[in-house]
Amino acid sequence: MYEHEREKLINSLRKKNITDKEVLKAMLKVHRHLFVPSAMINHAYDDVPLPIGFDQTISQPYTVAFMTQLLRLKDGCKVLEIGTGSGYQAAILYEMGMKVFSIERNFELFNTTRKLLEALEYRVALKCGDGSIGWSEFAPYDGIIVTAGSPQIPKSLKKQLAENGRLVIPVGDRFTQSLFIVTREKDDFRIEEEPSFRFVPLIGREGWKER
Ligand code: SAM
Repeated sequence: MYEHEREKLINSLRKKNITDKEVLKAMLKVHRHLFVPSAMINHAYDDVPLPIGFDQTISQPYTVAFMTQLLRLKDGCKVLEIGTGSGYQAAILYEMGMKVFSIERNFELFNTTRKLLEALEYRVALKCGDGSIGWSEFAPYDGIIVTAGSPQIPKSLKKQLAENGRLVIPVGDRFTQSLFIVTREKDDFRIEEEPSFRFVPLIGREGWKER
């Protein structure tokens, strides 16, 4: 179902400079329409974020593709996602052959998405809690992707990166952020920046305070 729409979306991502073949292949395979509320199904393959309830969103496909490409993953890498949301990003990483760990703070979303990922046989390790402090039990990670905007780069996430591992995180104020790409080089961290993104807030000990 929706094969033609998926192909159109992938072609539009190529035109927007998404070049990582593994990312494009995974996005062609994963059925985004299964991760959006039924009322939104006709917009599932538009390149836009969509509401998934609880004031949260499934990220725009371009943003998913761009952030995943920035992680520069190889088959079998261990990846931590902060902000499971709909489960779509986790499914993309799984489809790319990664060992995926994902944390969601909203209990209802966590529960709904856990059932969906299980039903679709995406084997992802899920946890309900504050992802701003990472998941130290399974660290270090080759990649950490944060899908909510943070006021700063959480120290705990930097600590949980493997050598040459990359953390991709939106950092800024509550309204607009830049994507920060943090690469661990032994005990040093190299930081690059890609401007102009917009995410829902990362709420937690090393993120924003809840209002
Ligand atoms: N990756 C998601 C997807 O594919 O649908 C997009 C998620 S949405 C843009 C961001 C998510 O981060 C929300 O579900 C929100 O509840 C969650 N979130 C915010 N702060 C968090 C935290 N400290 N720990 C874990 N999840 C958090």
